[in-house]
Amino acid sequence: DDDLDVLELSEEGEEAIRYLPALPVIAIVGRPNVGKSALVNRILGRREAVVEDTPGVTRDRVSYKGEYLDRRFTLVDTGGWEPDAKGIDASVALQAEVAIELCDVVLFVVDATVGATSTDEHVVRLLRKTKKPVFLLANKVDDARQESEAAALWNLGLGEPHPVSALHGRGVADMLEQVFKVLPQVSAVAKDEFGGPRRVAILGRPNVGKSSLLNKTAGEERVVVNELAGTTRDPVDEQIELGGKIWRFVDTAGIRRRVHLQQGADFYASLRTQAALEKAEVAVVLLDVSQPLSEQDVRIIDLVLESGRALVLAFNKWDLLDDERRRYLEREIEQDLHHVAWAPRVNISAKTGRHLEKLVPALETALESWDTRIPTGKFNAFLTELTQEHPHPVRGGKQPRVLFGTQAASRPPTFVLFTTGFLDPGYRRFIQRRLREIYGFEGSPIVINMRVRE
Ligand code: GDP
Repeated sequence: DDDLDVLELSEEGEEAIRYLPALPVIAIVGRPNVGKSALVNRILGRREAVVEDTPGVTRDRVSYKGEYLDRRFTLVDTGGWEPDAKGIDASVALQAEVAIELCDVVLFVVDATVGATSTDEHVVRLLRKTKKPVFLLANKVDDARQESEAAALWNLGLGEPHPVSALHGRGVADMLEQVFKVLPQVSAVAKDEFGGPRRVAILGRPNVGKSSLLNKTAGEERVVVNELAGTTRDPVDEQIELGGKIWRFVDTAGIRRRVHLQQGADFYASLRTQAALEKAEVAVVLLDVSQPLSEQDVRIIDLVLESGRALVLAFNKWDLLDDERRRYLEREIEQDLHHVAWAPRVNISAKTGRHLEKLVPALETALESWDTRIPTGKFNAFLTELTQEHPHPVRGGKQPRVLFGTQAASRPPTFVLFTTGFLDPGYRRFIQRRLREIYGFEGSPIVINMRVRE
C-alpha cells in the first residue's frame, strides 16, 4: 500500500482520521528514567513497551495517534531523546521547550520515589513561563502509602501533583479525565490565522544547507520583520519578502540555533521537524545532491506526508554535482522518491544563489493544489466516468461499487467515497492516480477515505 499518498482506513471502512496535526497534541516531558515510555504505553492502551526507558536509547518515532474514551489526540513522546549525563540539564530543557511549542497540553513526569532533582527544577522554570496547561504527574506511586511522596511535589509550584503509576495504571484514568477537560477538540497550534502570509517550513537533515538557504534569501531579499520577537505567539518565525510577496518562514530560530548533541541529535531533529510542520502550510525539504539520498531524507518526507502539508523538494548544492553523481542521483530519485513524484522539484544552490527564484513558483503551485476544492458535481462526473470505463474487479462474486463521492476538506484535499463494499488497495491507487492525471494536485498529498454502506 505504500504507493498511496496518505490513506488511513479502519477495518470497518469508517472514515479515518484526516491528518495528524489537526488533532490536539499532548506532550510528555521529563528527564530520563521517570517512566515516560510506560506512560505512553498506558495512555495508548498498549501492553508492549514502545522501547524500554533506558538512558541512551534513542528512537525516531516522535508522535502517536491515540484514542481514549472517544477522544482522539496526538501524543508526542519526548522520551526517545535521552541525553547523556553531561549535557543533561540543557538537553532536557531544550526538549521541554520544543514540546511546549508544539503541544496543547504538557504532561510533566517526575519520579515521586526520587523527588524533584535539579534537572526537574530546570524544566519547572520553563514550564512556569508557558500559558499552556501543565499537568504535574508524580509517577511510580504504586500504592496509597506512597502518596505522601507525591504530595511533596506541591512545592514545585506547578499546582496539584497527580499521583499515578504508569506501570500499573493507578490514577491514570483520573488524570486523563482532567486533561481532557482542558484539551481542545482541535489543536490550537495547527489552527492558525487564515489570510496572513503563507507559512513555510524549511526542513532537511543536518548540513543540507537550511541555514545557508535562509541566510541567502534573507540576505538578498527584504526581511520584513527579523525574528518576530517578544510576547507574540511565535518568537521563532521570520517574515521574508520573496517574489513580491511576504512569506512566513516558521521555526527559523530552530534552524539558526546550532545544537551540538552527542546523543539524541536525530531525535531532536525529528522533534523540530514535527514542531515546524505543525505550524506550516507547505514544507520545503532540502536534499543534498552531493551525498547519496539517505533514509533520514525519506523519513523527513514521510513526516510531511503524514502531516498532510504541501511539499516542495529542493535539491541543494547543485554546484557540487558532477556527471557521475548526477546519474546516481537520478536513479536514487526514481527508487526512493517515486511516492512523491507529484512534488515540484527545484535544483538550487544556497551557496551561489542558483535558481533560488524558482522556489516561489514551486511554493505557489503546491499551495494552490493544497487549497483546491473540486465541486461535488464535477467530482461525481469524474467518478462516474472512471467507474464506467474501469469497474472494480469482481471479488468473491461481489463487485463493490462507488455510489457517490465528495470532497470533504481541502488543505490537503480530502475525499470521501461512499461504496457498497471495501475497495481494493489497487483500485484506490487507481482512483488516486486518475485524480492526479486530471486535476494535477502538484505538490499536495491527497487523502481518500471510504465509507462502506451495508
Ligand atoms: P543546515 O544544517 O541544514 O542548516 O546546513 P548549513 O546551511 O549549515 O550548511 C552546511 C554546510 O553546507 C555549510 O558548510 C555550507 O556552507 C554548505 N552548503 C550549504 N549550501 C550549499 C550549496 O548550495 N553548495 C555548497 N557547495 N555548499 C553548501
